[in-house]
Order: sequence, then structure tokens, then C-alpha cells
Amino acid sequence: MAEHLKTARSEDDRAQDDAKVRKLVEATLADIEARGDAAVRELSARFDKYEADDFRLSQDQINSLMGELSAREKADIEFAQDQIRGFAEAQRASMKDIEVETLPGVVLGHRNIPVQSAGCYVPGGKFPLIASAHMSVLTANVAGVPRIVACTPPVGGKPHPAVITAMHMAGAHEIYLLGGIQAVGAMAIGTDSIRPVDMLVGPGNAFVAEAKRQLFGRVGIDLFAGPTETMVIADETVDAEMCATDLLGQAEHGPDSPAVMLTTSRKLAEETLREIDRLLEILPTPHARTSWAEYGEVIVCDDHDEMLNYANDIAGEHVQVMTDRDDWYLENMHSYGALFLGPRTNVSNGDKVIGTNHTLPTKKAGRYTGGLWVGKFLKTHSYQKILTDEAATLIGAYGSRLSMMEGFVGHAEQCNVRVRRYGGINVPY
Ligand code: NAD
Repeated sequence: MAEHLKTARSEDDRAQDDAKVRKLVEATLADIEARGDAAVRELSARFDKYEADDFRLSQDQINSLMGELSAREKADIEFAQDQIRGFAEAQRASMKDIEVETLPGVVLGHRNIPVQSAGCYVPGGKFPLIASAHMSVLTANVAGVPRIVACTPPVGGKPHPAVITAMHMAGAHEIYLLGGIQAVGAMAIGTDSIRPVDMLVGPGNAFVAEAKRQLFGRVGIDLFAGPTETMVIADETVDAEMCATDLLGQAEHGPDSPAVMLTTSRKLAEETLREIDRLLEILPTPHARTSWAEYGEVIVCDDHDEMLNYANDIAGEHVQVMTDRDDWYLENMHSYGALFLGPRTNVSNGDKVIGTNHTLPTKKAGRYTGGLWVGKFLKTHSYQKILTDEAATLIGAYGSRLSMMEGFVGHAEQCNVRVRRYGGINVPY
């Protein structure tokens, strides 16, 4: 039976936190709905100490911010965007429109059509998440979304040059300096200064993720992508330094970032706990200490099957696997955000540059969705054509009888009129 060497904040405490966030988000969205730009301005002043007549950045402002970056910084962003574009384009190419003849004269198909506008949220409250601009804006671009709106909060009262550069290079058509609930609320609901979008995408803190959840239905959303989570699955093939840096490297996102270690080795678990204490003394990473204290967990399992069960049940966002059977986890895990397989494949490379998308499901959403990808911006719409009299007669006769089994006389007659017209027979009711 598994042994919990370190436990995290209880489920009840987490549920109470969630309830508070839910209430605040509900009231804030209602305020944006009622008062539009006036509410957005007040919220930005309150939460981000930022006021502006117009939250949209002009092309001149964008050019001047881009001029603040060094050639090296621009080249680094370009390299990351090339990787993300390359993978997104390969994924786009795999999404074919199809058309098949399922019976003689019966043609069925589907077309993948991009949403007509997307609101991309690029987080920036604690750290300027440059990479999130590639993940949402660039991916929307590869999908062919014709209007891409992007919002990011001010950092220290100003736009962050690298975030704005990344948004612009990724292909954002409108960039607004707005954060939090007011950003996603304004994009989804629309105000006098921001036209509403069809879909919201991108990660964010608990407020942003909950606001997107509450706005779902009014607009589409990509997925529930809240505070970062990480999980390390390790056996004695790796050492404590690797496990500790992998746990803390994601726990530093914020004070509410869960980090879970699953291992078959009690010795490795104990060494990792000591290594984390050592690193927390020397790494200048302010949030990792709080999140590790509140949300860190270490579970020693009897064997790989038990680790697999825990991992699938937790359905964590980033799952780092460092074992003697990494591909076995690839084959057998069914619920997670993204897998990072083998000791060379760390999560931050994945998050920043490798080419896969870092906007990933949290809070067990990995049970029903993967992360953001080009397919999330595409709507798969079906169509059908009946091309011959024989097909209209055959399908119509079935359609008529099946409609009558459900008690739908009007449906049945709609089929029957075609059976009479194209087949010269009547389907008796
Ligand atoms: P953020 O941009 O998500 O949020 C900042 C905004 O939150 C501010 O602009 C402010 O308006 C609002 N805010 C702050 N405190 C508030 C309060 N008390 N009430 C109402 N609004 C408030 O930036 P962040 O806070 O740094 O969070 C980024 C988050 O994104 C982190 O939790 C990180 O883990 C997460 N993330 C998740 C993924 C994913 O794919 N799941 C990827 C990257 C980042």
C-alpha cells in the first residue's frame, strides 16, 4: 500500500478557495456586463494599478516596444515560434476534410472551419509569460482564425516588451493591455472598445480560469487551464537532484501550484525531500516555498502499476516520467495534460520552446480533454448530399418509418414526399 511521506492541503480547503473565487468572478462578470468599459477601467485600476483611455496598443507603441529587445532576445523568440509553428502546421495537416459515399448516391462529409475570432489570454501577473503568446496566438494563426485578439496584463504598470513582441510576431491583430477577469470578460461579453470574440483561449490564474469556465456557452473555450500542476514519476534510475528541480521548477509558477512526486523508492523520496529543502534555501524563487508547503505531495508506491493508477487518477497537467519503462507509461496513461518522457526531456523546455503547446488541462480536466492545439480552433461541420432517385427512395423509406416510431408525423412526411416524388411509391403510416 502506498505511503504518503508528505501530504498537501485538504480537498475541503481547496473547495472553499474555489467557492470564494467563483463568487468573486460571478459578481465581476455581472459588473462588466452591466457597465462595460467603465467597469473594465475600474477593475484594471483596482487589480493592476493601470488606467488608460484606450487599452488597445497602437502599432507605434508596439513598434517602439519591439525596439527595446536585443537581437538575441528577438532571435530566441523567433526560434521558439518556429518550433511551435512547425508542430502546429503538422497537426493542421493531419486534420483532413473528408467526403465519402456511404451508400450508392449518398455522400457524407465534414469540413474543418476555423472560428471567426479568438480572444487569447497571455498571463502576466507574476511573470511575463512570453511563451503563452506563442501557444495561443500563433496556434490560432496556423488554424486560420481571421481575427485574433490578445490581452495581457501590465507588468509594473507598463506593457512588457518581450510579451508584446511575441504577441505581434505570432500574428495578433489587436493587442490590449488588460489582465484577469476584466480581460476575458471584455473579450467575451464585448464593450464599446472591444468587439466580442467567438472563443476564449489561454491559461491563467484561478480567477482567469474560473472566468473562462463561467463564460463557456456564451463563447467557446479551449479548456480549463488554471494554476500549473506538475507530477514526477520516478524510480531508482534517477537521482534526487533531478526530481527536486523538476518539482520546484513548476511549483514556482505561483503559491497555488500543486507538485506531486510518485516513486517506487523510499530512499529517493527521502533524498528528494532533503534536496528540496536545500534548494529552497538557495534558489531565489519566491512562490515555490509556499506552493511546496501547501500543495507538495510525496507518495511512495509499491510498484509501477500502483504509480500508474495514482497518476491516471490525479490526471496532472505536466507529467515527468523518469523510470526504466518510460514508454510503458506512454502506452498506459490515459489522463494527463502532457507527458515528458525520460530524464533529458524536462517540462520547462516543453513549456518554452520544444514545440508542443503548453496550455494544458488542470484540476483533473485531463480526464476529458488534452491541451490547446490547432484543432481546438477548428469546428468540424458535417454535410450530406443525396444524389440519386434510388438513394432518396431507399433512405427516405427508412427515415419515414423511423420517424413514425418516434411519433413524428411531420418528420415522416418530409421523407415520404421525397419517396413519392423520386421513387413513385408511398410509405404507409
Ligand atoms: P494572470 O495574468 O493569470 O493573472 C493576473 C491577473 O489576475 C491580474 O491582471 C489581475 O487583474 C488579476 N487578479 C489578481 N489578483 C486578483 C484578485 N484578488 N481578484 C481579482 N483579480 C485578481 O497571471 P498570474 O497571476 O501570474 O497567473 C498565471 C497563472 O497561469 C499561474 O497560475 C500559472 O501557473 C498559470 N499557467 C497555467 C498554464 C496551463 O496551461 N494550465 C500555463 C501557463 C501558466
